[in-house]
Amino acid sequence: MTARRARACEPPRWNRLSGYFLRRFGERVRKIPLDAGFSCPNRDGTLGREGCIFCNAQGSGTGLGENGLDLAGQWEFWRTQFQAKGVKLFMAYLQSFSNTYGPIERLAAVLDALAVLPGIVGLSIGTRPDCVDREKLELIAKQPQPERWIEFGAQSGNDATLRRIRRGHDRAGVEQAVEAAAAAGLKVCVHLIAGLPGEGKNEFLDSVRWISGQAVSGVKFHCLYVCRDTFLADLFTRGEFTPISRDSYIDIMADALVVLRPDIIVHRIAGDPSCEELLAPEWALQSSDTGNRLAAELIRRDARQGEKSASR
Ligand code: SF4
Repeated sequence: MTARRARACEPPRWNRLSGYFLRRFGERVRKIPLDAGFSCPNRDGTLGREGCIFCNAQGSGTGLGENGLDLAGQWEFWRTQFQAKGVKLFMAYLQSFSNTYGPIERLAAVLDALAVLPGIVGLSIGTRPDCVDREKLELIAKQPQPERWIEFGAQSGNDATLRRIRRGHDRAGVEQAVEAAAAAGLKVCVHLIAGLPGEGKNEFLDSVRWISGQAVSGVKFHCLYVCRDTFLADLFTRGEFTPISRDSYIDIMADALVVLRPDIIVHRIAGDPSCEELLAPEWALQSSDTGNRLAAELIRRDARQGEKSASR
């Protein structure tokens, strides 16, 4: 049997989102990234104008919203492509910028627009921990879709790192937002980045342990990659930032998964930058290859998610 087939026959070594959806709905569900035209306090001058050091003008979006497609148009663009691959159920992922920023009426109008999208079974609202309050969380929690998630960009649990990458919020702010969202009845997904400036493996594993002790149901991982037109790109060009290597990322992620609480659903094991925006590292374009290598490494170590987690 080939190594690839052997891996395919292995039970998953981490708690994958695709597996969760299969158990929940009996079939595949795809997340559709949407740009609802929100902004971010870390860019509009409320907290700062320059944003996080890795953020570009698209704010992690697909650019479809900027190109004039409304939510229904963006939905159809992606749904048509996924339907051609046999997917029938979808989750709306408000990805760009901070999607709970601004008046609650605006959020309510966006949620109303999502509720009528064909094939929708869930929503996931990406935002910052300092852009939520009880009213907004309860509004999201009472939406009709069976899956209701909120995603907070935390990136690190280390306050010195958070200052260094210009997040404009601290660790305590993440903890309060996670607690409030979970209390409102939402599933919470937190984003963490490996390879942040000034962080090594120990700091990253501390963040994973920290998240494991919070009321989170999901986590997204990626390495810090360099996008064009960012402050990080300037650092990289001047030789003041070196992206993590793929081998180091596989090593650090294999260690991270074993200390991650076993029930936490891993929404993403590697980022998916567009080749137009990515400056470095080139290997970040091959997210599925990274996932395969990580699975092979866990098999080699005979390790799996949560086996060394203190938060079970
Ligand atoms: S919080 Fe998000 S949208 Fe705002 S500056 Fe940071 S990465 Fe960009």
